[in-house]
Amino acid sequence: MSETDGLCVESCERCPALVASRSRIVNGVGPDDADLLFLGEAPGQYEDEGGEPFVGRSGDVLDEALRDAGLSRADVRITNCVRCRPPDNRDPHKEELANCRGYLEAEIAAVDPDLVVTLGKVPTEHLLDRSVAVTKEAGEVQDARVGERSQRVLISVHPAATLYDASQRDTFTDAIAHAAELSGLADADGGQSRLGDY
Ligand code: SF4
Repeated sequence: MSETDGLCVESCERCPALVASRSRIVNGVGPDDADLLFLGEAPGQYEDEGGEPFVGRSGDVLDEALRDAGLSRADVRITNCVRCRPPDNRDPHKEELANCRGYLEAEIAAVDPDLVVTLGKVPTEHLLDRSVAVTKEAGEVQDARVGERSQRVLISVHPAATLYDASQRDTFTDAIAHAAELSGLADADGGQSRLGDY
């Protein structure tokens, strides 16, 4: 059985393999009215332990790119396509993505972001419903049908891609800066004037 207020899933056992491998359900974090929502694939080990999406090294890369764009983690919403850690960090299966889709749609409807940034292949293909060459299409903005709404989506590589391939770093940083601009969160100079706030 499941319970959700649109943002937070308290209990759910729809995916037997994930129920067996998770230690908790990892819900999205960040403001419930954020203009910018980042979407990852699934919790990994650190997320499962900490109960928050995008912590660990990938989270550090994301935080750094947000800082470069003049933002902080507290400014944005971060969530995943599935909320429970798959065994051995495998990709979520199609039926698991489908099982969790309603929660994602409810969260996006509740937050009502100007822009969703998909981090990597799985979330990008999940929202755009087609196969995507993420490194080629990174930075592009497209419309996706998410439940009842048409949602503007910006394609990005996964932050971890920058750890394995340094050439992806600019691709990732540029996509996050573009996202900050499109959502109206960045200052015209890329956020530098926010330094005056400190
Ligand atoms: S991944 Fe989503 S649908 Fe599957 S058990 Fe976890 S909360 Fe439920």
